[in-house]
Amino acid sequence: MKITLKALFSLVFSLLAFFLASCSSLGPRFERLLGTVCFVNLYESGKERYYDEIFDRLKQIDEEFSFDTVKSDLYRINAFAAKEDVRVSDDVFTVLERAQKISEITDGAFDLTVEPLVNLWCINTNSPHLATQDEIDERLPLVGYKNIILNPSDKSVRFAKEGVRIDFGGIAKGFAADEIVKICKKHRIRRAVIDLGGNVYVYGKKKKDALWNVGVKNPEYPDSAPLVKLALPEISVVTSGTYERFFEDKDKRYHHILSPKTGYPVDNQLYSSTVLCTNSMTADALTTAFFVLGREKTMEILPSVRSELGIDLEVIFIEKNHNVYFSKDFPYTRAVLYRDWRIFRNQAK
Ligand code: ADP
Ligand code: MG
Repeated sequence: MKITLKALFSLVFSLLAFFLASCSSLGPRFERLLGTVCFVNLYESGKERYYDEIFDRLKQIDEEFSFDTVKSDLYRINAFAAKEDVRVSDDVFTVLERAQKISEITDGAFDLTVEPLVNLWCINTNSPHLATQDEIDERLPLVGYKNIILNPSDKSVRFAKEGVRIDFGGIAKGFAADEIVKICKKHRIRRAVIDLGGNVYVYGKKKKDALWNVGVKNPEYPDSAPLVKLALPEISVVTSGTYERFFEDKDKRYHHILSPKTGYPVDNQLYSSTVLCTNSMTADALTTAFFVLGREKTMEILPSVRSELGIDLEVIFIEKNHNVYFSKDFPYTRAVLYRDWRIFRNQAK
Protein backbone atom coordinates (compact mmCIF):
# COMPACT_ATOMS: atom_id res chain seq x y z
CA MET A 1 0.00 0.00 0.00
CA LYS A 2 1.35 3.38 -0.94
CA ILE A 3 0.89 6.13 1.60
CA THR A 4 1.22 9.60 0.18
CA LEU A 5 2.94 12.33 2.16
CA LYS A 6 -0.33 14.26 2.28
CA ALA A 7 -2.21 11.31 3.75
CA LEU A 8 0.53 10.79 6.33
CA PHE A 9 0.37 14.43 7.39
CA SER A 10 -3.35 14.28 7.67
CA LEU A 11 -3.15 11.11 9.81
CA VAL A 12 -0.56 12.64 12.14
CA PHE A 13 -2.59 15.83 12.34
CA SER A 14 -5.78 13.93 13.22
CA LEU A 15 -4.01 11.92 15.90
CA LEU A 16 -2.48 15.07 17.37
CA ALA A 17 -5.86 16.84 17.37
CA PHE A 18 -7.47 13.83 19.06
CA PHE A 19 -4.67 13.72 21.64
CA LEU A 20 -4.94 17.45 22.39
CA ALA A 21 -8.72 17.29 22.62
CA SER A 22 -8.58 14.44 25.09
CA CYS A 23 -5.93 16.25 27.16
CA SER A 24 -7.41 19.74 27.11
CA SER A 25 -9.43 20.75 30.10
CA LEU A 26 -12.51 22.91 30.26
CA GLY A 27 -12.58 26.17 32.20
CA PRO A 28 -14.54 26.48 35.45
CA ARG A 29 -18.29 25.93 35.45
CA PHE A 30 -20.93 27.83 37.40
CA GLU A 31 -24.67 27.56 37.72
CA ARG A 32 -27.42 29.04 39.89
CA LEU A 33 -28.43 26.36 42.36
CA LEU A 34 -29.12 26.10 46.13
CA GLY A 35 -30.26 29.73 46.06
CA THR A 36 -26.82 30.98 45.05
CA VAL A 37 -24.17 30.81 42.35
CA CYS A 38 -22.30 27.50 42.52
CA PHE A 39 -18.78 27.71 41.05
CA VAL A 40 -16.43 24.77 40.50
CA ASN A 41 -12.96 24.83 38.95
CA LEU A 42 -11.30 21.47 38.30
CA TYR A 43 -8.27 22.97 36.56
CA GLU A 44 -6.40 20.41 34.43
CA SER A 45 -8.87 17.66 35.38
CA GLY A 46 -11.77 19.71 34.03
CA LYS A 47 -13.45 17.12 31.84
CA GLU A 48 -17.04 17.57 30.75
CA ARG A 49 -18.15 14.31 32.37
CA TYR A 50 -16.73 15.32 35.76
CA TYR A 51 -18.43 18.70 35.65
CA ASP A 52 -21.66 17.00 34.56
CA GLU A 53 -21.48 14.54 37.46
CA ILE A 54 -20.81 17.35 39.95
CA PHE A 55 -23.60 19.58 38.71
CA ASP A 56 -26.06 16.69 38.44
CA ARG A 57 -25.32 15.93 42.10
CA LEU A 58 -25.83 19.60 43.00
CA LYS A 59 -29.19 19.56 41.19
CA GLN A 60 -30.21 16.46 43.11
CA ILE A 61 -29.27 18.12 46.43
CA ASP A 62 -31.09 21.28 45.37
CA GLU A 63 -34.24 19.24 44.73
CA GLU A 64 -34.08 17.41 48.06
CA PHE A 65 -33.50 20.59 50.08
CA SER A 66 -35.71 22.93 48.11
CA PHE A 67 -38.71 24.73 49.59
CA ASP A 68 -40.41 25.01 46.24
CA THR A 69 -40.96 21.56 44.81
CA VAL A 70 -43.83 19.60 46.26
CA LYS A 71 -41.74 16.46 45.84
CA SER A 72 -38.77 17.68 47.88
CA ASP A 73 -37.94 16.07 51.22
CA LEU A 74 -37.96 19.49 52.87
CA TYR A 75 -41.44 20.22 51.56
CA ARG A 76 -42.75 16.88 52.81
CA ILE A 77 -41.13 17.33 56.23
CA ASN A 78 -42.61 20.79 56.74
CA ALA A 79 -46.02 19.74 55.41
CA PHE A 80 -46.49 16.43 57.26
CA ALA A 81 -43.95 15.85 60.08
CA ALA A 82 -46.27 17.28 62.74
CA LYS A 83 -48.84 14.56 61.92
CA GLU A 84 -46.78 11.56 60.87
CA ASP A 85 -43.24 10.15 60.56
CA VAL A 86 -41.77 11.41 57.31
CA ARG A 87 -39.13 9.22 55.70
CA VAL A 88 -36.36 11.15 54.02
CA SER A 89 -33.37 10.50 51.77
CA ASP A 90 -29.97 9.54 53.17
CA ASP A 91 -28.72 13.03 52.26
CA VAL A 92 -31.42 14.84 54.20
CA PHE A 93 -31.10 12.52 57.18
CA THR A 94 -27.32 13.03 57.28
CA VAL A 95 -27.80 16.80 57.36
CA LEU A 96 -30.55 16.56 60.00
CA GLU A 97 -28.33 14.49 62.28
CA ARG A 98 -25.37 16.84 61.94
CA ALA A 99 -27.60 19.90 62.46
CA GLN A 100 -29.04 18.40 65.65
CA LYS A 101 -25.57 17.59 66.97
CA ILE A 102 -24.43 21.16 66.32
CA SER A 103 -27.55 22.54 67.99
CA GLU A 104 -26.77 20.46 71.09
CA ILE A 105 -23.16 21.55 71.41
CA THR A 106 -23.93 25.23 70.75
CA ASP A 107 -26.86 25.35 73.15
CA GLY A 108 -29.33 25.90 70.33
CA ALA A 109 -27.49 28.83 68.71
CA PHE A 110 -27.79 26.88 65.47
CA ASP A 111 -31.36 25.73 65.09
CA LEU A 112 -33.09 24.44 61.96
CA THR A 113 -36.49 25.32 63.43
CA VAL A 114 -35.92 29.07 62.97
CA GLU A 115 -37.95 28.75 59.75
CA PRO A 116 -41.12 30.48 61.11
CA LEU A 117 -38.90 33.47 61.96
CA VAL A 118 -37.01 33.38 58.65
CA ASN A 119 -40.39 33.32 56.95
CA LEU A 120 -41.62 36.24 59.05
CA TRP A 121 -38.66 38.55 58.40
CA CYS A 122 -38.30 37.49 54.73
CA ILE A 123 -34.77 38.94 54.77
CA ASN A 124 -33.62 36.72 51.92
CA THR A 125 -36.39 38.02 49.65
CA ASN A 126 -37.08 41.21 47.69
CA SER A 127 -39.80 42.20 50.16
CA PRO A 128 -38.40 41.96 53.69
CA HIS A 129 -40.67 42.71 56.64
CA LEU A 130 -39.87 44.56 59.85
CA ALA A 131 -41.36 42.10 62.34
CA THR A 132 -43.31 43.34 65.36
CA GLN A 133 -42.78 41.97 68.85
CA ASP A 134 -46.25 40.40 68.76
CA GLU A 135 -45.47 38.56 65.55
CA ILE A 136 -42.19 37.31 67.00
CA ASP A 137 -43.82 36.23 70.27
CA GLU A 138 -46.37 34.26 68.31
CA ARG A 139 -43.66 32.26 66.52
CA LEU A 140 -41.01 31.81 69.23
CA PRO A 141 -42.78 28.82 70.87
CA LEU A 142 -42.36 26.93 67.57
CA VAL A 143 -38.59 27.40 67.64
CA GLY A 144 -36.43 24.81 69.37
CA TYR A 145 -34.32 22.00 67.93
CA LYS A 146 -35.79 19.57 70.45
CA ASN A 147 -39.02 19.83 68.48
CA ILE A 148 -37.32 17.71 65.79
CA ILE A 149 -37.39 14.00 66.57
CA LEU A 150 -35.18 11.79 64.41
CA ASN A 151 -35.56 8.07 64.02
CA PRO A 152 -32.34 6.59 62.59
CA SER A 153 -33.81 3.10 62.21
CA ASP A 154 -36.03 4.15 59.29
CA LYS A 155 -34.51 7.60 58.59
CA SER A 156 -37.70 9.39 59.44
CA VAL A 157 -38.49 12.76 61.00
CA ARG A 158 -41.32 13.81 63.28
CA PHE A 159 -42.12 17.21 64.79
CA ALA A 160 -43.13 17.47 68.43
CA LYS A 161 -45.91 19.95 67.65
CA GLU A 162 -48.01 21.56 64.97
CA GLY A 163 -46.51 24.65 63.32
CA VAL A 164 -42.84 23.62 63.58
CA ARG A 165 -40.96 24.10 60.32
CA ILE A 166 -37.31 23.77 59.35
CA ASP A 167 -34.90 25.70 57.13
CA PHE A 168 -31.64 24.24 55.78
CA GLY A 169 -30.28 27.65 54.66
CA GLY A 170 -27.50 27.58 57.26
CA ILE A 171 -26.11 24.13 56.42
CA ALA A 172 -27.12 22.76 52.98
CA LYS A 173 -24.39 24.50 50.99
CA GLY A 174 -21.74 23.00 53.26
CA PHE A 175 -23.17 19.53 52.75
CA ALA A 176 -23.14 20.10 48.98
CA ALA A 177 -19.48 21.21 49.03
CA ASP A 178 -18.50 18.01 50.87
CA GLU A 179 -20.38 15.94 48.28
CA ILE A 180 -18.40 17.61 45.47
CA VAL A 181 -15.17 16.81 47.31
CA LYS A 182 -16.25 13.15 47.42
CA ILE A 183 -16.65 13.16 43.63
CA CYS A 184 -13.21 14.79 43.25
CA LYS A 185 -11.67 12.07 45.43
CA LYS A 186 -13.44 9.30 43.52
CA HIS A 187 -11.97 10.48 40.21
CA ARG A 188 -8.58 11.35 41.72
CA ILE A 189 -8.97 14.91 40.57
CA ARG A 190 -5.74 16.68 41.50
CA ARG A 191 -7.05 20.03 42.62
CA ALA A 192 -10.25 22.03 42.68
CA VAL A 193 -11.81 25.20 43.98
CA ILE A 194 -15.44 24.92 45.02
CA ASP A 195 -17.32 28.10 45.89
CA LEU A 196 -21.00 27.72 46.67
CA GLY A 197 -22.02 31.30 47.40
CA GLY A 198 -19.12 31.97 49.75
CA ASN A 199 -19.02 28.42 51.10
CA VAL A 200 -15.50 27.72 49.87
CA TYR A 201 -13.56 24.45 49.66
CA VAL A 202 -10.00 24.39 48.34
CA TYR A 203 -9.24 20.79 47.46
CA GLY A 204 -5.89 19.12 46.73
CA LYS A 205 -2.73 21.13 46.25
CA LYS A 206 -2.66 24.37 44.32
CA LYS A 207 0.67 23.42 42.74
CA LYS A 208 3.43 21.18 43.99
CA ASP A 209 3.80 22.12 47.66
CA ALA A 210 2.01 25.44 47.15
CA LEU A 211 -0.80 26.58 49.40
CA TRP A 212 -4.09 28.10 48.32
CA ASN A 213 -4.77 31.80 48.78
CA VAL A 214 -8.21 32.39 50.22
CA GLY A 215 -9.59 35.80 51.16
CA VAL A 216 -12.12 36.73 53.82
CA LYS A 217 -14.18 39.70 52.70
CA ASN A 218 -13.85 43.20 54.05
CA PRO A 219 -17.36 43.63 55.55
CA GLU A 220 -17.30 47.36 54.81
CA TYR A 221 -16.24 46.85 51.18
CA PRO A 222 -17.34 43.30 50.31
CA ASP A 223 -16.67 43.86 46.60
CA SER A 224 -13.13 45.18 47.08
CA ALA A 225 -9.90 43.44 48.10
CA PRO A 226 -10.36 40.95 50.96
CA LEU A 227 -9.68 42.05 54.51
CA VAL A 228 -7.86 38.85 55.49
CA LYS A 229 -5.64 36.82 53.19
CA LEU A 230 -4.95 33.21 54.16
CA ALA A 231 -2.49 30.63 52.80
CA LEU A 232 -4.16 27.24 53.22
CA PRO A 233 -3.82 23.53 52.60
CA GLU A 234 -6.92 21.50 51.59
CA ILE A 235 -9.73 22.88 53.73
CA SER A 236 -13.15 24.50 53.75
CA VAL A 237 -13.56 28.16 54.67
CA VAL A 238 -17.06 29.40 55.45
CA THR A 239 -18.13 32.87 56.53
CA SER A 240 -21.42 34.17 57.91
CA GLY A 241 -21.72 37.91 57.90
CA THR A 242 -24.10 40.82 58.31
CA TYR A 243 -23.20 42.11 54.85
CA GLU A 244 -24.43 39.06 52.95
CA ARG A 245 -28.19 39.46 53.09
CA PHE A 246 -29.87 42.31 54.92
CA PHE A 247 -32.25 45.24 54.69
CA GLU A 248 -32.10 48.62 56.38
CA ASP A 249 -34.82 50.59 58.14
CA LYS A 250 -34.20 53.94 59.85
CA ASP A 251 -30.41 53.42 59.66
CA LYS A 252 -30.64 50.05 61.36
CA ARG A 253 -29.47 46.94 59.58
CA TYR A 254 -31.52 43.75 59.80
CA HIS A 255 -29.49 40.79 58.54
CA HIS A 256 -30.25 37.11 57.96
CA ILE A 257 -28.70 35.41 61.02
CA LEU A 258 -31.42 35.14 63.62
CA SER A 259 -31.24 34.49 67.32
CA PRO A 260 -33.44 31.46 68.03
CA LYS A 261 -33.90 32.87 71.55
CA THR A 262 -35.01 36.46 70.81
CA GLY A 263 -36.34 36.02 67.28
CA TYR A 264 -34.41 39.08 66.06
CA PRO A 265 -31.35 39.32 63.80
CA VAL A 266 -28.39 38.89 66.13
CA ASP A 267 -27.24 42.29 67.32
CA ASN A 268 -23.67 42.07 68.60
CA GLN A 269 -20.26 43.56 67.87
CA LEU A 270 -19.62 41.17 64.96
CA TYR A 271 -19.47 41.83 61.26
CA SER A 272 -18.65 38.21 60.49
CA SER A 273 -17.52 34.85 61.76
CA THR A 274 -15.41 32.44 59.69
CA VAL A 275 -14.79 28.76 60.34
CA LEU A 276 -12.01 26.70 58.78
CA CYS A 277 -12.25 22.91 58.85
CA THR A 278 -12.08 19.92 56.53
CA ASN A 279 -15.84 19.28 56.76
CA SER A 280 -17.76 22.03 55.02
CA MET A 281 -21.16 21.08 56.44
CA THR A 282 -19.77 21.44 59.96
CA ALA A 283 -18.06 24.72 59.06
CA ASP A 284 -21.29 26.07 57.53
CA ALA A 285 -23.47 25.34 60.55
CA LEU A 286 -20.79 26.47 62.99
CA THR A 287 -20.28 29.88 61.35
CA THR A 288 -23.96 30.57 61.88
CA ALA A 289 -23.84 29.22 65.45
CA PHE A 290 -20.66 31.14 66.33
CA PHE A 291 -22.11 34.34 64.95
CA VAL A 292 -25.11 33.88 67.24
CA LEU A 293 -22.94 33.02 70.27
CA GLY A 294 -20.49 35.90 69.71
CA ARG A 295 -16.71 35.89 70.03
CA GLU A 296 -16.20 35.43 73.74
CA LYS A 297 -18.59 32.54 74.19
CA THR A 298 -17.27 30.84 71.04
CA MET A 299 -13.64 31.10 72.14
CA GLU A 300 -14.68 29.63 75.49
CA ILE A 301 -16.43 26.58 74.04
CA LEU A 302 -14.12 26.03 71.04
CA PRO A 303 -11.98 23.30 72.68
CA SER A 304 -15.07 21.33 73.69
CA VAL A 305 -16.68 21.81 70.24
CA ARG A 306 -13.52 20.40 68.67
CA SER A 307 -13.48 17.37 70.92
CA GLU A 308 -17.25 16.76 70.65
CA LEU A 309 -17.03 16.76 66.85
CA GLY A 310 -13.61 15.09 66.71
CA ILE A 311 -12.36 17.61 64.17
CA ASP A 312 -9.81 20.41 64.03
CA LEU A 313 -11.35 23.78 63.50
CA GLU A 314 -10.21 27.37 63.58
CA VAL A 315 -12.16 30.62 63.67
CA ILE A 316 -11.81 34.23 62.66
CA PHE A 317 -14.04 37.00 63.98
CA ILE A 318 -14.24 40.38 62.31
CA GLU A 319 -15.72 43.04 64.56
CA LYS A 320 -17.37 46.36 63.89
CA ASN A 321 -14.68 48.14 65.92
CA HIS A 322 -12.04 47.04 63.37
CA ASN A 323 -10.63 44.24 65.48
CA VAL A 324 -9.85 40.92 63.80
CA TYR A 325 -9.57 37.93 66.14
CA PHE A 326 -7.99 34.59 65.27
CA SER A 327 -8.47 31.46 67.37
CA LYS A 328 -5.68 30.55 69.75
CA ASP A 329 -2.67 29.05 67.94
CA PHE A 330 -4.26 29.70 64.53
CA PRO A 331 -1.92 27.55 62.44
CA TYR A 332 -2.19 29.13 58.99
CA THR A 333 -0.30 32.04 57.46
CA ARG A 334 -2.50 35.08 57.39
CA ALA A 335 -2.33 38.78 56.68
CA VAL A 336 -4.74 41.63 57.23
CA LEU A 337 -4.60 43.74 54.10
CA TYR A 338 -6.00 47.07 55.39
CA ARG A 339 -4.04 49.32 57.72
CA ASP A 340 -6.86 50.58 59.92
CA TRP A 341 -7.68 47.09 61.28
CA ARG A 342 -6.03 45.52 64.34
CA ILE A 343 -5.10 41.85 64.67
CA PHE A 344 -5.58 39.93 67.89
CA ARG A 345 -4.42 36.42 68.51
CA ASN A 346 -4.39 33.91 71.31
CA GLN A 347 -7.60 35.35 72.66
CA ALA A 348 -9.06 31.98 73.56
CA LYS A 349 -8.95 31.21 77.21
P1 ADP B 1 -25.42 32.14 54.05
O1 ADP B 1 -26.61 31.32 53.71
O2 ADP B 1 -25.52 33.53 53.56
O3 ADP B 1 -24.15 31.48 53.65
P2 ADP B 1 -25.45 31.27 56.80
O4 ADP B 1 -24.72 30.01 56.55
O5 ADP B 1 -25.09 32.00 58.04
O6 ADP B 1 -25.33 32.29 55.62
O7 ADP B 1 -26.97 30.88 56.87
C1 ADP B 1 -27.94 31.84 57.14
C2 ADP B 1 -29.25 31.21 56.79
O8 ADP B 1 -29.54 30.17 57.73
C3 ADP B 1 -30.40 32.19 56.89
O9 ADP B 1 -30.66 32.78 55.64
C4 ADP B 1 -31.53 31.31 57.39
O10 ADP B 1 -32.11 30.63 56.30
C5 ADP B 1 -30.84 30.31 58.26
N1 ADP B 1 -30.66 30.75 59.67
C6 ADP B 1 -30.72 32.00 60.20
N2 ADP B 1 -30.46 31.98 61.51
C7 ADP B 1 -30.22 30.69 61.85
C8 ADP B 1 -29.90 30.02 63.07
N3 ADP B 1 -29.74 30.67 64.21
N4 ADP B 1 -29.73 28.66 63.00
C9 ADP B 1 -29.88 27.98 61.85
N5 ADP B 1 -30.18 28.56 60.68
C10 ADP B 1 -30.34 29.89 60.67
MG1 MG C 1 -23.94 28.72 57.89
